Amino acid sequence: MSRTYVIQTLGCQMNVHDSERIAGSLDAAGYIPAPEGSDPDLVVFNTCAVRENADNKLYGHLSFLAPSKKSRPDMQIAIGGCLAQKDQGTILKKAPYVDVVFGTHNVGSLPTLLERARVEQSAQIEIKESLDHFPSTLPSRRHSAFSAWVSISVGCNNTCTFCIVPALRGREKDRPQDDIMNEVRALVADGVTEVTLLGQNVNAYGVDFGDRTAFAKLLRKCGEVEGLERIRFMSPHPRDFTDDVIEAMAETPNVMPHLHMPLQSGSDRILQAMRRSYRVDRYKGIIDKVRSAMPHSTITTDIIVGFPGESETDFLETMQITTDLRFLAAYTFQYSKRPGTPAADMPDQIPSEVVSERYTRLHEHLNTLSQSVNNDVVGTTAEVLVTDVDGARASGKSRDFRLVHFDSVDGLRPGDIAEIRIGSAKPHFVLGDGAPISTRKTRGGDAFEARKKEAESTGVMLGIPTLKSIPGK
Ligand code: SF4
Repeated sequence: MSRTYVIQTLGCQMNVHDSERIAGSLDAAGYIPAPEGSDPDLVVFNTCAVRENADNKLYGHLSFLAPSKKSRPDMQIAIGGCLAQKDQGTILKKAPYVDVVFGTHNVGSLPTLLERARVEQSAQIEIKESLDHFPSTLPSRRHSAFSAWVSISVGCNNTCTFCIVPALRGREKDRPQDDIMNEVRALVADGVTEVTLLGQNVNAYGVDFGDRTAFAKLLRKCGEVEGLERIRFMSPHPRDFTDDVIEAMAETPNVMPHLHMPLQSGSDRILQAMRRSYRVDRYKGIIDKVRSAMPHSTITTDIIVGFPGESETDFLETMQITTDLRFLAAYTFQYSKRPGTPAADMPDQIPSEVVSERYTRLHEHLNTLSQSVNNDVVGTTAEVLVTDVDGARASGKSRDFRLVHFDSVDGLRPGDIAEIRIGSAKPHFVLGDGAPISTRKTRGGDAFEARKKEAESTGVMLGIPTLKSIPGK
């Protein structure tokens, strides 16, 4: 009887990608995704360590699972990801009913550790300080039939003072270009039409093998893959964002006209304290070049509010730059002290009530801004990669990364393409005006349909199951 599993993924896209590998490794070892509503034999937490409440979240989940573990001793719990890499044995002290703790550098070893824990009836912990092998060489169970993450590097050589990632994922390691291209071609052969190149700092790609133009070359190479309709990437760093990357984006038709580039703060004084190694003028300069090369491109970003020492003036500079650069969206975070980072020991930690007041103010401002940026496309048409079809309604992403809701038509499938006239706009999405102008069946839609039929015939669900019943997940 196959053992069933669920995976709770916390944190960033890198973790989403790793969870696909964890699921793929479990599938290869004979496990199956737990059917909806069933009690799984294995619960895996792929954890994040970026923010303070990440710990509280994990231990809250675990305390909720303890009674189930007591009533079903054969059930197993495994903890992986950045918090496992950081806390290691502490997790077993705080939650002695956990069976396996594994790190970010050895996600593929989980099935072996689970078996060893069952045979030896004792908890197993395996944390590696450096990468065993690139996670992308492991089998994968992808969330989507037509859209895929492809990691091109792991780790980071930067030393941002608020960030714990370099300590947990190590220095940057770049994947050989041939490996990446073989994976991209294999994914496209499997029906994938959209690929997102993934790394902590994608545009530093090549630093490991001494070619600073390697990322631009990689984008162009992906552009040559027949059948690959959309190429995206995240996350670049402004310090390493060079003109050859902008030219590659502008000259490669299937690279999407959208750039997600973290800014973090609009104040040079705070950027210096964050050790972000660029200033506002450089950031603005890059955006200006991107916009002159791709006039219809959109920009999204990440912003931290309440970094130690942030004055009202610094905060207002952040508000102002969002207006100046007309971001389509900004993912905003309240600064949270992360022990082990230089910023945690900095003076002038901002009181939490001030941080949340600024956070709310910025949010309201960004909503107004996103509304106006989305208003710009009302009356125009958008090519939408359909991601969801629910009866008479459908949704998807435009080339420039806008979420589009529209009236569906018979036979439209997730993975297909629809040409939509934009009728109205909201802060975080735009609405189609009536039925699509045209639709196009794609190999991505075929792949979705094939997986759906397979799931119906085998009873094994698509994607990666999660625990539905955990409160506050
Ligand atoms: S660039 Fe900075 S914030 Fe991003 S992963 Fe590296 S150290 Fe962390």
